[in-house]
Amino acid sequence: MNILIVEDEPKLAQLLADYLSQAGFESHIIADGQQALDYLNAKRTSDLPDLMILDLMLPNLDGMEICKAVRQFSHLPIIMATAKVEEIDRLLGLELGADDYICKPYSPKEVVARVKTILRRVQWQAVQKQDFQAEQSALAALSGLTLEPSQLKAVLQGHTLELTSVEFQLLELMASQPGRIFNRQQLMDKCYQDHRVVSDRTIDSHIKKLRKRIKDKCPEQELIHSVYGVGYKFEVLAD
Ligand code: CA
Repeated sequence: MNILIVEDEPKLAQLLADYLSQAGFESHIIADGQQALDYLNAKRTSDLPDLMILDLMLPNLDGMEICKAVRQFSHLPIIMATAKVEEIDRLLGLELGADDYICKPYSPKEVVARVKTILRRVQWQAVQKQDFQAEQSALAALSGLTLEPSQLKAVLQGHTLELTSVEFQLLELMASQPGRIFNRQQLMDKCYQDHRVVSDRTIDSHIKKLRKRIKDKCPEQELIHSVYGVGYKFEVLAD
């Protein structure tokens, strides 16, 4: 992991670099704003650092401008350092896209802790995204179904299914594990996270509507199957 330190106080920059090195990170120090942006521009297509600690007040180009410019081409995690605590509110309001803000004087230890937290979050998000994409493409290959949870949108073999939020969640849950039988309680827990008490019949009626919507668009594909006495499952039956 490589950390870029953009800081024009040499002693502070070196102190940070030492702490980061103790924590197992490599770092590179740049003391000038314009040089920092030139450096990042040169690396934008190949090897950007894994994170940048960016001072606000810098010679030639300030941290705000650097942050804005970098956000045009990268999600590189940025921790911005300012000398005034009041500045942080103003910077937040400007929505520059920095991942975190710290106020000087800071303890290098605290900065290292924040660096670790942000890098862990970024890695976790990347894994989540990969898992989701892998799951989605497996599902699409299997059944011709794609799900877009952010829009509650389901498309089956090119046909958009008009689903209510409950129907979408039921489909999403069952499709996440094709072949697995879900009982009514499990389906209810997914759809009513406020622990509302709903009857088995409510779930049955949602499922019935969901199956009808699928059938209306793709009569030959029966994706939701009832398993007598137990519950339901999502399965693509071979022709
Ligand atoms: Ca400075």
